[in-house]
Amino acid sequence: MSKIRFSFKFILMFVFCIISINAYAENVDVLKRLELAYPDSIHEVSSSYIAWKDGSLTQVRSSFPVFTLLARIIYRFDTKTGSISKRDVERDAYEPFFRKMYGNSANEVKKKLVTIYWMPKVFGTKYPLRVTTVNGVDKKLRRISAELEKLPPSYHKYLARPAGCFYWRNVKGEKYLSAHSFGIAVDINSSYGDYWLWDWLKHKRRISKSDFHNRIPMKIVNIFEKEGFYWGGRWETYDTMHFEYRPELFMS
Ligand SMILES: [Zn+2]
Repeated sequence: MSKIRFSFKFILMFVFCIISINAYAENVDVLKRLELAYPDSIHEVSSSYIAWKDGSLTQVRSSFPVFTLLARIIYRFDTKTGSISKRDVERDAYEPFFRKMYGNSANEVKKKLVTIYWMPKVFGTKYPLRVTTVNGVDKKLRRISAELEKLPPSYHKYLARPAGCFYWRNVKGEKYLSAHSFGIAVDINSSYGDYWLWDWLKHKRRISKSDFHNRIPMKIVNIFEKEGFYWGGRWETYDTMHFEYRPELFMS
């Protein structure tokens, strides 16, 4: 009898180990991208948490609810900014992560903003932009600005009238915050931008990938992308004037 009980316990432990290993592997591959992309902000990513450089922990939810619950008992998570899961990252819907990193409210974000002048050698002080200092985004945008200044004058028209560097708001028609809310996004001249929503309103039909069209020279796109700024022209819901600091998207 005791032999049977021992075997049962052994099988249970074995199953528990297998589930744990699976839960670890399924979370870590995707979430490790965040650790690699944001070394200034993140100390370490495990299957259960994101450990931030400020010492706090954000919970990573598992697809096995029992592990999520167990981790909540073991670790002291900072619950102010919620939690994330591997699936959230895959769906590109992990706002709590950005709230934690850049600020949980407009006022918190504002404390980390500085003003930089956009392409000052070309436009002087005409275009001040408010941008976050977190992850060195301000320095990266300054480098982008300096590279863009070296382009021939025929490119200047695409780069004039930049807008929306910091603007706390939801994405149009959605319930989640735009990257502009965190001071990590910039829109170049909207007169040369193509946006899926404008096309949807114009054609009064569903917009798909085949509707994509673009007037922004790829030389400009490449300069932004070299510094980790993702181009809105790469989304199905294209927005070709939009660039946002998302280094993890270059790692998928
Ligand atoms: Zn934008």
